[in-house]
Amino acid sequence: MSDKPEKLITDDGLRLDGRRADEIRPMKIEIGVLSRADGSCYLEWGRNKILVGVFGPREAHPRRSQRADSAVIRYRYNMASFSVEDRARPGPSRRSIEISKVSREAFEPVIMAEMFPKTAIDIFVEVLQADAGTRTAAINASSIALADAGIPMKGLITSCAFGKVDGQIVLDLNKEEDNYGEADFPVAMTQDGEITLVQMDGHLTPEEIKKGLELVKKGCKEILEIQQTVLRKKFETPVEETSEEASEAEKESESVPAPEFAPEAAVEEIFEEAEEFGAEVSEEPSEADVLSSEVVPDSEEEIEEEIEEEFETEEEFETEEEEFEEEALEEEAEFEAESEEDLEEDLGEELEEEEFEEEALEDEAEFEASFESTPELKEFEEIEARLEKEAASREAEEEIELGSETEELAEEEPSPEEETEVEETTASEETIEPETEVEPETETVEIPTEGVEAEEEPEEEKSEGPWKVVKDPSEAGTRGEKDE
Ligand code: UDP
Repeated sequence: MSDKPEKLITDDGLRLDGRRADEIRPMKIEIGVLSRADGSCYLEWGRNKILVGVFGPREAHPRRSQRADSAVIRYRYNMASFSVEDRARPGPSRRSIEISKVSREAFEPVIMAEMFPKTAIDIFVEVLQADAGTRTAAINASSIALADAGIPMKGLITSCAFGKVDGQIVLDLNKEEDNYGEADFPVAMTQDGEITLVQMDGHLTPEEIKKGLELVKKGCKEILEIQQTVLRKKFETPVEETSEEASEAEKESESVPAPEFAPEAAVEEIFEEAEEFGAEVSEEPSEADVLSSEVVPDSEEEIEEEIEEEFETEEEFETEEEEFEEEALEEEAEFEAESEEDLEEDLGEELEEEEFEEEALEDEAEFEASFESTPELKEFEEIEARLEKEAASREAEEEIELGSETEELAEEEPSPEEETEVEETTASEETIEPETEVEPETETVEIPTEGVEAEEEPEEEKSEGPWKVVKDPSEAGTRGEKDE
């Protein structure tokens, strides 16, 4: 334990930790630090460090401790052995039992214990680090923990002590002031200022107590604000607007034009853009910057002048804006219509091209097939070859039989070449009956549709040679029809 300092309060009225007489130590509160507790709080006040856990309301054990008309409030103050300079003896002590009792009684007026008969509300206080005023610090922390546990209370309890140091009444004693001071006076009170705990250690006059109580009220008020702030931060939910308030807000929003359509807003937007542009421009302008600076106005005044020149009145500005929007819409509609027409045309052309190509391919295939797979063509070739062979053999026979017949007879007859020309023409037409009797070697040929019909023709029709005499053109078969 350190020796007693010469002075606890300096000549300029400050205490050893720098506080004035009516100042409390800095306080820090954290809620809900213990997951297994219904409510919990960790509080630092100066160099005090307090941990509180609240359990309940829960069934009270042992049963004999139960109360039929209300809950039992149990408060256990425990000082950790490592919490003080000299090791504290573990377990209950006269002091801890006393502190537990007075602290419990400090809460009894506000906790609505009658709501929970036969139950227990347990408040466990662990002093982790002590620096005087641990009971008051524990009461402040317990108040938060009870609220965190949802225990119904009429209000928060706040606690603070005053004392007498170097003959002066001071608020919230620290360890040195508690040890070497003349008095220590802890107090707990409700939000309404009703005292629920008061103790005194030392000697004080009534005037000093009166003065001290005034300081405690002030201190408790400050502590209450801290407690409320912490609780609001965790539990307070935004208040929903009533339907009337909501309708009023809607009306207001309707009456005010939307910023994007307000000319003032448009002007402000231009200012903002100009400012942003100016911010981007470096201090030493490049050639491009110099050129652009001739186009882009530098200051707000210049922009304003330009806008005023361009649009003398706001109405003109609005009408210009509307016209521009209309033009843009018309252009957009035209562009869409044109693009649709172009698309349709392109599709039509593509379809036509495809059809044409398909037809061309079909024609080509038919044309090729007509040469490759027509049986008439083969038969024609076979007949032609056979007739040529027969004609050659007859020529040879005639040459042998006639020998050297007169040249006159030979002149009267058409030349074989002329006959061939005529006959070939008729053969191709297939329907022309030969008018003159011609030599057998100049035959016209009927292209048969089924087999070699020429050989199967009746005798009468065959009388004039191997030609087929067709009386009705329709009898020529499909070939003649096609030629027509
Ligand atoms: N103290 C201690 N050992 C103990 C009890 C108390 O060192 O066994 C110190 C501790 O710092 C405590 C201070 O004495 O805060 C004052 O104790 P007091 O009994 O006055 O209660 P408090 O002021 O802490 O409410």
